[in-house]
Amino acid sequence: MQPSGNLHIGNYLGALKNWVRIQNDYECIFCIVDLHAVTVYQEPAELRAKIREIAALYLAAGVDPHASSIMVQSGVAAHAELAWMLTCVTPVGWLERMTQYKAKAAKQESVGDGLLQYPVLMAADILLYQAGIVPVGEDQAQHLELTRDIAQRFNSLYGETFVVPNTSLPTVGARVMGLDDPTQKMSKSATGANHAVALLDPPEQVRKTIMRATTDSKPAVEVETAGPGVLNLLSIYQAFSDASDDQMKQRFNGMRYGDLKKAVAEMVISHLEPFQRRYRDITADPGYLDRVLREGAARVAPIARSTVELVKERMGLYT
Ligand code: AMP
Repeated sequence: MQPSGNLHIGNYLGALKNWVRIQNDYECIFCIVDLHAVTVYQEPAELRAKIREIAALYLAAGVDPHASSIMVQSGVAAHAELAWMLTCVTPVGWLERMTQYKAKAAKQESVGDGLLQYPVLMAADILLYQAGIVPVGEDQAQHLELTRDIAQRFNSLYGETFVVPNTSLPTVGARVMGLDDPTQKMSKSATGANHAVALLDPPEQVRKTIMRATTDSKPAVEVETAGPGVLNLLSIYQAFSDASDDQMKQRFNGMRYGDLKKAVAEMVISHLEPFQRRYRDITADPGYLDRVLREGAARVAPIARSTVELVKERMGLYT
């Protein structure tokens, strides 16, 4: 995740929750991608603080630093090194087609090269560790496809080098939409007051944002035919509660929207309260976070180094 903006329930349901679920089945590496964050200007002191905040949020969500490695991208130089090598096998046309690039570039007068290169750096983050699966939200599926294309292109040019990774999307919550506008993805960079529920929002704020969520003019919930606003609320409830489709129908069909919103708000709050308590405990000892990040980087650096050495050898670079 990028250390920019405030992590929200979309980040949690789309990615973090899945990470915690799989961490005992796989050897996992969870990265805080600060080099990606600076593809748009970040105030340096804020970025420095955000990196630690994200690390604490990973831990508060239940990522276990003994089972998994948590590390910061710029702390392992091989990420930037491999990104360059991959840039050299990536056609510009592939990058210009990325929808996230097009959307971000459209908002800016002058587009930094980093924004175009963003998915190549992401490919480096993944291929560096020969990752088998990458658990992300739906918005990253296109970048994962590109990562697969880059890996395959490299392998066909220079011989089998990279594992071609698979994408893992959650079944519910892969794309949480904005509460103020259910046609737009919930986003850290959106500015609307009622757009997102941040993971560190106090309960009163969570309640207010959800109670103001945009719905439609139907009289009551009908799970099978719900419009985008109601569907988004139902998905948030289902993803937090792990309720089955049948349980969702039984619980919500015929319910008035106000009551649906109350149920969603209470479900979200009941998950965020213990999460926020753990966050406060973790941040009470800043030395602990630095230890976790240092240990994570030390654990993954040799894997990253050996991939870069392999790539250099394959490409004929100086070793
Ligand atoms: P980012 O906000 O780009 O740092 O994304 C961090 C992770 O959260 C990625 O795996 C995204 O796919 C996921 N994510 C971001 N926004 C959403 C959303 N609205 N719904 C579901 N997953 C999301």
